[in-house]
Amino acid sequence: MSGIEGKVVAITGASSGIGAATATHLAERGARLVLGARREDRLNEVVDRITEQGGSAVGVVVDVTRRDDLKRLTDTALDHFGRLDVLVSNAGTMAISPFDELRQDDWDAMVATHITGLLNGIGAALPVFRRQRSGQFVNVGSTAAYVVKPPQAVYAATKTAVKVLTEGLRQESGPDLRVTLVSPGFTHTEGVGKGGSPEAAAAAVRQRDEIAMPPSAIASAIGYAIEQPDGVDVSEIVVRPTVQA
Ligand code: NDP
Repeated sequence: MSGIEGKVVAITGASSGIGAATATHLAERGARLVLGARREDRLNEVVDRITEQGGSAVGVVVDVTRRDDLKRLTDTALDHFGRLDVLVSNAGTMAISPFDELRQDDWDAMVATHITGLLNGIGAALPVFRRQRSGQFVNVGSTAAYVVKPPQAVYAATKTAVKVLTEGLRQESGPDLRVTLVSPGFTHTEGVGKGGSPEAAAAAVRQRDEIAMPPSAIASAIGYAIEQPDGVDVSEIVVRPTVQA
């Protein structure tokens, strides 16, 4: 199946920012969506908006750090739509801080969300894709995996892991599956400056407000990777604001 129309796409972190923009973009092009995040109220707003506009979306409260939650997300796709064509692993947290502040809970959350969360998605979707003999993983990385800047080392390390896991998965996935890494640069979302050290957060928000791209820029990159014909794997897309070094 090529194009976006009719595809069943599950998206983690769909309650705001890039995930919500991707849901809107894909719904407008006829995808059927299963949307996951922890904040039920914000998730429902996205689902309701899509449904009111004639799209097809179901929300599932999901914490990607929990294996069973990801299984529930993929099971919902199978129960509601009979299949799963794409899993977009987008959930993330950018709680950046200098090492000296020892914000170890934030370190743990980034490891759990970006690495364990991604693996939980692979664990839930891979057997489905193998049974169907088709499917696509779209993993959201970051330009932080390409240029490490203080005080982002832990965040950058976890996004480097996303990049490595994506490439390894692609090499093992064989001809039936597609595996895509989409690495955004500065994007205007509420996630920038949320958590981490107050100083680092304030600096990130200032930079975001000066240079960030709209989340629709990433949504359309994800859409591009999904809409290619079955035999075409867009392995990697990096999208930055032109002014980002
Ligand atoms: P947002 O904060 O707007 O979105 C993050 C999403 O992830 C929310 O929907 C949040 O929902 C969800 N989320 C966080 N933790 C979990 C969890 N444990 N389980 C399930 N969902 C979770 O920020 P962005 O849209 O900017 O971030 C989306 C992705 O893009 C992240 O992976 C981020 O690292 C990446 N990125 C963003 C950049 C930027 O400049 N904005 C640049 C590079 C990469 P909820 O709280 O409801 O669970």
